[in-house]
Amino acid sequence: MTYKNFTIETDADGIALVTWDMPDKSMNVITVEVMNELEAIIDQTVADAAVKGVVITSGKSSFSGGADLSMIKSMFSLQQEEKAKDPAHAVEKLFALTGRMSALYRKLETCGKPWVSAINGTCMGGAFELSLACHGRVASSAKSVKIALPEVKVGIFPGAGGTQRVPRLANTQDALQMMTSGSSLTAARAKAMNLVHQVVAPEELVPAAKQMIKDGLKPVAPWDEKGFKVPGGGIWTPASAQLWPAAPAILRRETAGNYPAALAILKCVYEGLQVPFDTGLKIEQRYFTYILQTTEAFSMIRSLFISMQELGKGARRPAGIPKSEFKKVGIVGAGFMGASIAYVTAAAGIPVVLIDRDQEAADKGKSVCEGLAGGSVSKGRLSKEEGEKLLSLISPTADYAALSDADLVIEAVFEDRDVKKAVTEKVEAVLPEGAIFASNTSTLPITGLAKNSKHPDQFIGVHFFSPVEKMMLTEVILGKETGDRALAVALDYVAAIRKTPIVVNDTRGFYVNRCVFRYIAEAYDMLIEGVPAAMIENAAKMAGMPVGPLSLNDEVAVDLSYKIFKASIADLGPQSVDPRHMDLVAKMVENEGRLGRKSQKGFYDYPAKPAKKRLWSGLKHLYPQQRPENVDIATLKDRLLVTIALEASRTVEEGIVTDPREADVGSILGFGFAPYTGGTLSYIDGMGVKAFVDLCETLAAEFGDRFKPTPLLLDMAAKGETFYGRFDPYARKAAA
Ligand code: NAD
Repeated sequence: MTYKNFTIETDADGIALVTWDMPDKSMNVITVEVMNELEAIIDQTVADAAVKGVVITSGKSSFSGGADLSMIKSMFSLQQEEKAKDPAHAVEKLFALTGRMSALYRKLETCGKPWVSAINGTCMGGAFELSLACHGRVASSAKSVKIALPEVKVGIFPGAGGTQRVPRLANTQDALQMMTSGSSLTAARAKAMNLVHQVVAPEELVPAAKQMIKDGLKPVAPWDEKGFKVPGGGIWTPASAQLWPAAPAILRRETAGNYPAALAILKCVYEGLQVPFDTGLKIEQRYFTYILQTTEAFSMIRSLFISMQELGKGARRPAGIPKSEFKKVGIVGAGFMGASIAYVTAAAGIPVVLIDRDQEAADKGKSVCEGLAGGSVSKGRLSKEEGEKLLSLISPTADYAALSDADLVIEAVFEDRDVKKAVTEKVEAVLPEGAIFASNTSTLPITGLAKNSKHPDQFIGVHFFSPVEKMMLTEVILGKETGDRALAVALDYVAAIRKTPIVVNDTRGFYVNRCVFRYIAEAYDMLIEGVPAAMIENAAKMAGMPVGPLSLNDEVAVDLSYKIFKASIADLGPQSVDPRHMDLVAKMVENEGRLGRKSQKGFYDYPAKPAKKRLWSGLKHLYPQQRPENVDIATLKDRLLVTIALEASRTVEEGIVTDPREADVGSILGFGFAPYTGGTLSYIDGMGVKAFVDLCETLAAEFGDRFKPTPLLLDMAAKGETFYGRFDPYARKAAA
């Protein structure tokens, strides 16, 4: 028999080598077709008396990324349709559907012939669950091998036997840690956890896997043997009595109860280890069916997987413009941002000219790149040679003539209109025709800066976030006259440096910073009301934000807020800034010299390491304090999320953000907006626009007009619309 996604070669010893190599994909994923073929392969190899055992490996550099999440997304739509037709049976159908992969793996495990998984590269999720169902697992020692059950990161959990097999192989604590964090294991760590049997050199992989079968590998899983005991003795042991009462508390500390899938993992393991294996699988299937019906799973898969992938692949790239090849990128301004932008550009293999006012300043930028490369080499992320090659691509200079053959220039000089104007003119004097000019400004509208350019259609904003080498998001800003080719080149560049772009129209603060300013401003309001600072920071964490608003303000600098307020007053008039906020920031900066982390003093104190930062005790003397028991923590959480989501909805209403995927992905990658919600607009859609409007009105009545729902929201609530319905990104593409 022949298969589309697999080849089978049986050798003289009767060992069938099944190679998974999907023809139209760069990475193997589990689809319905793959499951059908795998089932046929199990039947074929069982029926063929000449086959003694099976080795499964991949024909690609990775083993597999796991289940095709688009398949899971389609299960959501199916479920919605079924629910509308026949609610009583919809869940039953979903239950049957979710059991397919698990049943297939159980069939493999009990087929009577030994199977060995030869893990040659990244092996994730459903693919590692497939490997766990094999009787033997051999992993390559190559650095590229990463093993993980990362489902929790997109709001689901390992639902094809993972929650049952891992804790029957590894000790319970490690198993829980692996699955609730979704973090990756190296091959060596997987072996130490007893999740793989052998780790061998890449060229030894398939021979070693075959040898396991020749050595008489039993086609029986440990849990199917009589007298099987769970590692550590199971639930009813003194060690478990220590672990289990603490486990939900630890999870709550890590997730604040916001991630139902993480809790479901605990339940699957706790309940599953007390029953026979097949009953454990049923328990897992029930929880999986439940989790698939949660808003969190739906929103997280949509934003963190589907939308992120679509934006990364250029969902917003104008069609019909040839893909750009970057022979040289110029970066002007070798300071804090420019140096790191040079680094990530060279890391993508693109030659970079790094320009500053003089050679010394340019060299200083390059030395920052040397530090970054050195760090990557010492952490083993780059080999010494790769580090050297990367650095050789960066040429520091003060001579603008070096830009005469650049395809793209990114300006990252001081945030000063006059300096930027002078630099634009100097660059354009040497830049070849057709080259694109991008500004990394964080606050100055692009349309205004483009007035300094001879070619405003070739002028665009490419806004990076700090630290550039870690932050995955780049905000691409269209000025009024920015042309399609500039957008295409900017998106090709962002793709080349492997970051995720969002494309937004021009406005003060663009999208991300507008939202971030609202978050910080709400914390100012809380401080002014006398809410204890620790409650503000804790409420933010409990709401799912990675960093509290006061801590975030310290990171970006309190004096920057002060400068921005002053600039807004100068540009837009005194009514543009709340005088109480101005007063708070002025007190911090001018009276107290508390500029943020950079001065070791902000809303927090930053004592020398190893001491940890702590909230500045003087904060409670700035405003009369409320008693903690009089402050409602749930309301604080709502205020922090609602104020951001409202701002996001305003950017949609103003036509700044035009695609809900960008608002959502931008909010999670840009400032970590409560990922379990799926992002700012999914947060609103998830609770329903009507419920959000009601919440806004309640908050507006108590805390002020800034919470008043906008006309767009009121209209959507009246019509029962969602953001993804009203601003359907796929409908627009189809219409284009
Ligand atoms: P920086 O002060 O660290 O670096 C600016 C660099 O520009 C300096 O090395 C300076 O010598 C150089 N420079 C100044 N005038 C020049 C000229 N005429 N010709 C050549 N070089 C010149 O500032 P930064 O934090 O890197 O910010 C740079 C830009 O990036 C600003 O527009 C800022 O708004 C934006 N930005 C900053 C951040 C951030 O977190 N710092 C984030 C996003 C965007």
